[in-house]
Amino acid sequence: MALSFCSLASGSSGNCQLVASETTRLLVDAGMSGKYIKTSLDNIDVRIETINGILLTHEHADHISGLGVLMRRYKMPLYVTEKTWEAVKPKIGAVDPSLLHVYEEIDNIEIGDIRIQSAKITHDAVDPRCYAFINENTKIGIATDLGTISDEVIEKFKDCDLLMIESNHDIEMLKTGSYPMVLKRRILSEFGHLSNEDAGFIAKEIIGYGVTKHILLAHLSKENNFPDLAYETVRGILEENMIIPGKDIVLDLTYRDKVGKLYKIMK
Ligand SMILES: [Zn+2]
Ligand SMILES: [Zn+2]
Repeated sequence: MALSFCSLASGSSGNCQLVASETTRLLVDAGMSGKYIKTSLDNIDVRIETINGILLTHEHADHISGLGVLMRRYKMPLYVTEKTWEAVKPKIGAVDPSLLHVYEEIDNIEIGDIRIQSAKITHDAVDPRCYAFINENTKIGIATDLGTISDEVIEKFKDCDLLMIESNHDIEMLKTGSYPMVLKRRILSEFGHLSNEDAGFIAKEIIGYGVTKHILLAHLSKENNFPDLAYETVRGILEENMIIPGKDIVLDLTYRDKVGKLYKIMK
């Protein structure tokens, strides 16, 4: 069996990812306009009407700004925790209640033939999550807006074939950049975002378990990072640990404003 993955957009201006088996297609977050998401799916030959559901990592605008439109225009079901739904509800306009699947705990649910695991994270939202998707023996992980590196996150993602991991900022660029001090402190704190070095550390740890062959860097800051810098920082950390991108694993970027590669993981 197989799982496919495509990042439609990733970054502080909007997030939306596709995870699909042969028969089930899910979106994680809907932080771009409905029009952008439809066009992006068209570009990879996925009809938006065939999406079976949306999951949310958390309620920040860069993860939900297109949600109301997707639910109203395309009747997309939403799978969400109670706390996150309470935070999202006032922000998206009226939606058909029959599309709502609200859970106290969203770990180990199944949608079609995809099983979903979640891990709680420390980002500054009411109930933030990252997710892993399992179909038979293939597993894909999406871990952004993490705040901090936790054992739970490593444990949940150590057997992923493909992991999309946050590589938000270069610490020096952030510290010397133009953001107000309060925002700098928030980003650097356990409630903020992971640096390129953090992404390299998690990638090295997870690849060490011997399953993960694809690492995709995600949620890059426009102000405090460059794609090349994120890539080279993580590549350097992996190579120091005898992991050679291009030979041992695939290391790729996702993009703020364009669709990334479509990956098909088959075993
Ligand atoms: Zn975000
Ligand atoms: Zn956020």
